[in-house]
Amino acid sequence: MRLGALEAGGTKMVCAIGDETGKIYEQVSIPTQTPEITMPELIGYFKEREIDALGIGCFGPIELDKNSPDYGCITSTPKKAWRNFNIVGEFAKALQCPIGFDTDVNGSVLGEVTFGQAQGKNCVIYLTIGTGVGGGIYIDGKLLHGMLHPEAGHVMIRKREDDMYEGKCPYHKTCLEGLAAGPAIEERWGRKAVELADREEVWDLEADYIAQALTGYILTLSPEMIILGGGVMHQEQLFSLIRTKVTRMLNGYILTKELEDMEHYIVPASLHDDQGIMGCLELARRELKTDHEIYIQK
Ligand code: ADP
Ligand code: ZN
Repeated sequence: MRLGALEAGGTKMVCAIGDETGKIYEQVSIPTQTPEITMPELIGYFKEREIDALGIGCFGPIELDKNSPDYGCITSTPKKAWRNFNIVGEFAKALQCPIGFDTDVNGSVLGEVTFGQAQGKNCVIYLTIGTGVGGGIYIDGKLLHGMLHPEAGHVMIRKREDDMYEGKCPYHKTCLEGLAAGPAIEERWGRKAVELADREEVWDLEADYIAQALTGYILTLSPEMIILGGGVMHQEQLFSLIRTKVTRMLNGYILTKELEDMEHYIVPASLHDDQGIMGCLELARRELKTDHEIYIQK
């Protein structure tokens, strides 16, 4: 099987060709401009390489309901040029092959469950903490969509009393993204996040907010593993701080073998930053399989 993968991001588009084992044969990155400029480049790339199916992990919000007339569109994104753009429709028209489509973070969790450390698990969360905060959720063989798709980065957080920062989210101010994404760290402390590496108070506060969100996810979804990625999580000291704080916040209320082994429960991504693109290969494979099954049933 020759599969195409596209990680569609606000700043860059990562395109790859691979197969159903997760092997990546080639990969390129194209800057994200307007659809008029970027789409022909992407279509040209995949057309030349004669793929059987394409998987797209996309920035959002996006429409994932196949019964909706807007299926396959990027919807209310702040990136105006891409608002209401039917990305799946454009690729389907040009490539004439099955197109798998999901959020970028659902792509990442799918990569980890199919090819990485979360193989064999039934309920896994992938949270990226970078320019924004986003969460992908895999549950009983499927990626969770529900009425739209999870927007786990925007859960409300209790602000710590010693934190004078007002919060950056244009919708909620002090949601997780508003308090803990890279740009919030940088505005609060007035420095690049990477330059704050040895400021203990920065990462203690950061871990506090992330731990509050994780505690909520643990109590709501009962995940078997939580994977944390994104630029901010390059601060590796965050992991032990977050594990300690989550344990403290749960306060012994639930006792499981997973929570007793925090080092293997709250973990960094395992696929050398390829979890997203590998997940897109699996999105492509799954769509090809579904298409084939529908064809056989006819
Ligand atoms: P994106 O979210 O745009 O895909 P990233 O996940 O790389 O990209 O996130 C970028 C954000 O992560 C920036 O806001 C930056 O502040 C932060 N960041 C990047 N590298 C580091 C680092 N080594 N330490 C702390 N923060 C970082
Ligand atoms: Zn928000």
